[in-house]
Amino acid sequence: MEPLPQVIDNVKESFKLAKRDIIELAQTVNTLNETLHEMNKKYQELLKEQHAMKLKLSEKGSKKIIISTTGKRQYVGSRRALKVHDSNCVFAKNIKPKYKINFTSKSKALNQGYKLCDCLKK
Ligand SMILES: [Zn+2]
Repeated sequence: MEPLPQVIDNVKESFKLAKRDIIELAQTVNTLNETLHEMNKKYQELLKEQHAMKLKLSEKGSKKIIISTTGKRQYVGSRRALKVHDSNCVFAKNIKPKYKINFTSKSKALNQGYKLCDCLKK
């Protein structure tokens, strides 16, 4: 019994189509994999950047902590107002550079006729 040639052709044709679809799918998967790989690389780079930024932030944070824990105060005076402040005082930060004068101790400032700001009276 011979199979009908038409049926064989149909089966062959649909196998060909299926094969083509599979190849196309494989290519799509490959492309997607490459994209995924690229994205992963970028993600890793971003993670590194984020890490670097966090390090910078924590460095800044730790510097502040060092200043406040060592207890070494910086005194900043204003030549115009003849007042002396802790360097962290808002007023100290507002002193214009040309009027700014640094003192290593409170008494040195007092000896030069400067008055203490409330920030130093605590
Ligand atoms: Zn002050």
